[in-house]
Amino acid sequence: MATKHWPEGSICSGCFVKACETYGVCDGCGVDRMLPGISPSGDRLCTDCAGGLGDYICTRCGQEAWRHYAGICGRCVLTDRLTTALTDGTGTIRPELTPLFESIRAMRRPRSGILWLSRPHVPAILQALATGRVPLTHDGLSSLTPWRSVVYIRDLLIACGTLPPIDRYLFLFEQWLPRWLEGIDDPEHRKLLHRFATWHLLRNLRTTAQTGPIGHYRNQSARTQLRTAAAFLTDLAARGHTPQQCTQTDLDRWFATTNSTAKLGLRAFLRWAIDHHAMPRLALPPVVTGHSPPISNHQRIDLIRRIHTDPAIAPIDRVIALLILLYAQPLPRIVRLTLADITHDGDQLLIRLGDPPVPVPQPFAGHITTYIASRPNLVTATNPGSQLLFPGRRAGHPSTPPASDSACTTSASPTSTPEPAPSENCCSRHQHPSSQQCSTTHPTAQNASPPKPAAPGRPTPPATTPADPHHRTGPDSNHHQRQTLRTDDWRQSNRTGYRSGSIGRVSSLFSRSFR
Ligand SMILES: [Zn+2]
Ligand SMILES: [Zn+2]
Ligand SMILES: [Zn+2]
Repeated sequence: MATKHWPEGSICSGCFVKACETYGVCDGCGVDRMLPGISPSGDRLCTDCAGGLGDYICTRCGQEAWRHYAGICGRCVLTDRLTTALTDGTGTIRPELTPLFESIRAMRRPRSGILWLSRPHVPAILQALATGRVPLTHDGLSSLTPWRSVVYIRDLLIACGTLPPIDRYLFLFEQWLPRWLEGIDDPEHRKLLHRFATWHLLRNLRTTAQTGPIGHYRNQSARTQLRTAAAFLTDLAARGHTPQQCTQTDLDRWFATTNSTAKLGLRAFLRWAIDHHAMPRLALPPVVTGHSPPISNHQRIDLIRRIHTDPAIAPIDRVIALLILLYAQPLPRIVRLTLADITHDGDQLLIRLGDPPVPVPQPFAGHITTYIASRPNLVTATNPGSQLLFPGRRAGHPSTPPASDSACTTSASPTSTPEPAPSENCCSRHQHPSSQQCSTTHPTAQNASPPKPAAPGRPTPPATTPADPHHRTGPDSNHHQRQTLRTDDWRQSNRTGYRSGSIGRVSSLFSRSFR
């Protein structure tokens, strides 16, 4: 159901809130203020220039903003709720938490912060820290639950300078390990896996963390190795053998009956166990990896064309996919690119993937420029000043690829607060996937009443054009539903081994295939 009836037509709740969170210089009067209105030509307008969209002055702070209730703006409400959550018991905010208070309070979309704080466990965590019931340290945080929310608050506290930085993924692995080991029933297996984790996996991760972030992938790989080793030991036990009694036949049988991921995941454990006399010295069967064959140039061009033309692909997916397909860079490296890695030489856009920076030809350069103008995940307390080219949902961390991103999607952070569902009925801004059907079955306000000359109804844009600045993205661009590159595509193209020198060849093939 539409919630507002503006001169341009009915506005659903999602588009209304979005409109009330848009600021800038009004194209009508040139004043810098809230710009809820959109003219038929797409100009951004203040409420006055749009024909009077309502009063949005906060009765407490006097700012023009989305009003949460009783005429009080979202930021004032967020400030009140944060103050309550962060008070040290005497009615004032614990001084060490003031930077956290300021950073959350300053988020561009206070509504997200209010919704985040409305979850019962979030104020509970903040209260525990503010009152000193739990020490304001990494260890103190680790004693709190649920862990996803704790991870998010930890990232914020590190970003604010309240807690010292730690390698987040190393920390997560250290937290996960004892819990996982507790679940191993056989005490001998548990002991052996504990030794392997401590003296091999953790030692390697800590060494890596001294020179750079260990990242999501190494953390996951270490867990996979442990899980695979546990499965192997269980399989061995089912055959009546301890690790010391493992035979070449046991090993060959296991390798013959598992997939290549498990085989690869087990090799480090087997080598370590043999070197440390936990297993007899056996020959490790060779692993023939089940990598997909490299994609052909034709397939590559097809993928590039789809990425270039498909409006349903999100801009962030489009840019990352183009960088993989054009430059064959590994995904972990691409997501760590920063704005400083994108430069210009005259009209030529350059990207620094090594030295010297390489040129990005048109039309791909245009995609990167467009994407940079509207990078995601910058509107909350998480990443307001992020220099990452692909900022993630968590403070200081880049975005993760679709498969892991969806696996990690939680309700832990304000950024993951679900948007109010847009009305399916005739919001004049909501890009309904079947807008034609919508307009015929449900007459809009502008159709039902004579259009007002001062602010005529805004025509519904074609379904394939990009959404306007205020427009909430439609169901087609939902993370789960949008037609996005499958992880297989990324992996497959990542293995093609194209060198950056092939960019010219790709570019010419691309142009030819379009003519
Ligand atoms: Zn104006
Ligand atoms: Zn206010
Ligand atoms: Zn709408």
